[in-house]
Amino acid sequence: IDAVCFLSLYSFTQKYPPVKFLSEKDRKRILITGGAGFVGSHLTDKLMMDGHEVTVVDNFFTGRKRNVEHWIGHENFELINHDVVEPLYIEVDQIYHLASPASPPNYMYNPIKTLKTNTIGTLNMLGLAKRVGARLLLASTSEVYGDPEVHPQNEDYWGHVNPIGPRACYDEGKRVAETMCYAYMKQEGVEVRVARIFNTFGSRMHMNDGRVVSNFILQALQGEPLTVFLFLPSDLVNGLVSLMNNNISSPVNLGNPEEHTILEFAQLIKSLVVSRSHIQFLPEAQDDPQRRRPDIRKAKMLLGWEPVVPLEEGLNKTIQYFSRELEHQANNQYV
Ligand code: NAD
Ligand code: UDP
Repeated sequence: IDAVCFLSLYSFTQKYPPVKFLSEKDRKRILITGGAGFVGSHLTDKLMMDGHEVTVVDNFFTGRKRNVEHWIGHENFELINHDVVEPLYIEVDQIYHLASPASPPNYMYNPIKTLKTNTIGTLNMLGLAKRVGARLLLASTSEVYGDPEVHPQNEDYWGHVNPIGPRACYDEGKRVAETMCYAYMKQEGVEVRVARIFNTFGSRMHMNDGRVVSNFILQALQGEPLTVFLFLPSDLVNGLVSLMNNNISSPVNLGNPEEHTILEFAQLIKSLVVSRSHIQFLPEAQDDPQRRRPDIRKAKMLLGWEPVVPLEEGLNKTIQYFSRELEHQANNQYV
């Protein structure tokens, strides 16, 4: 379930994790932008192990070489340090376009850069897709629904986004990115897939990511009950690959419809970490969505997809990963 444990086990016994053999006709050349990030590196593992040729393009803003280092030197793998805001000329069959900061502190750090990445960066990747005839999957987000007035949200909902609020650089950036996908589809015949991803957590997620799971696990404290729906990279990665290889070009929600209040969540994490920290309530952040829950009937019906990893199992894995990271940091502090 969690490729990280599996992969670290392999690194003791052989140079690379096991890779399936694919005949030339089944083997694809796949570009993953943002492939050194949290979701992208799990997707890299799956596609590499499935036997494809994977090129990761990343500017290492929030991603890390460490997330994909176990593939470096493999003949099917390439890592390119490149910013998608600049044009890119390579030859590929499929593009998973994930490059974009994903958590509020990261995307608010430099809103103009976030806008450039999601607009110019997406335009460049669509230009690339058009030139080489590749299919492009955009990692869009539940944030396109903003602070939703309907609950749960299905793909037909147009959203409720404040265009000038602190989250707008990301929300509107992704909305334009979706618009661009459909403009390239209609005008240029580019094959596009759009996944609207709901909060995901797991190993390789940045500890200082600023989102709910990392905050809670690091005993940071958060306020007023909001509701969240979280799911795991293995579920998400399977959903993304399934969507890429299906014929549904309209947006598809990928998320976990199991709903928890933030308070329930804090309590659960506190008990799993066996922590003494108490829960403190702080004022809510501006434009924070109050409640969100994906309607995943479309993904279920058309892709046969739904999340399967139980919440506690995922949380325990993430807690283990964060403990190892904290240990790693402590050990490296004095060298
Ligand atoms: P992440 O920050 O771990 O990964 C994003 C990657 O993109 C990083 O490796 C970063 O260095 C890279 N990147 C950023 N700007 C770039 C640029 N200009 N050029 C090249 N690379 C660039 O985040 P993640 O959680 O893995 O998210 C991946 C994608 O999924 C993002 O597009 C995000 O918007 C989307 N998404 C994620 C979630 C979630 O809960 N994790 C939810 C909804 C949508
Ligand atoms: N582009 C790219 N790689 C390619 C082809 C295009 O990065 O292989 C970029 C190109 O620099 C341009 C953008 O994608 O800025 C849009 O390309 P498109 O061909 O759609 O538009 P045009 O170049 O005709 O304006």
